[in-house]
Amino acid sequence: MLQINCPNCGLRDEIEFSCGGEAHISRPDYSINLTDKEWSEYLFLRHNPKGIFIERWFHSHGCRRWFNLVRDTVTNEIFEIYPMGSFPKTSEGRNAYKNNWRRQSLSELKINEKKK
Ligand SMILES: [Zn+2]
Repeated sequence: MLQINCPNCGLRDEIEFSCGGEAHISRPDYSINLTDKEWSEYLFLRHNPKGIFIERWFHSHGCRRWFNLVRDTVTNEIFEIYPMGSFPKTSEGRNAYKNNWRRQSLSELKINEKKK
């Protein structure tokens, strides 16, 4: 069984947690005019790699807080756990973030363009 080191509660069994899927998905605000293709990309397309991946996890039977986790989906090795709203610091986490197709998706490029 996978064991996860909750930043608030410590090491616990996986059964206490819920996986919230891919982390670092930029949400478009109302002022960004997305095409139907860009909107559907944001809503429905998710990265699903065989290898190192960044996920959101929720400690549903503990502190009831969200956090991000960098995990190898093949070996279940956990490289890093870090708070929501921040970015990975390990080389595995930074590479997983940088190499995710989402960094080049139409919706995310448009969102980041607006932030500038
Ligand atoms: Zn917890």
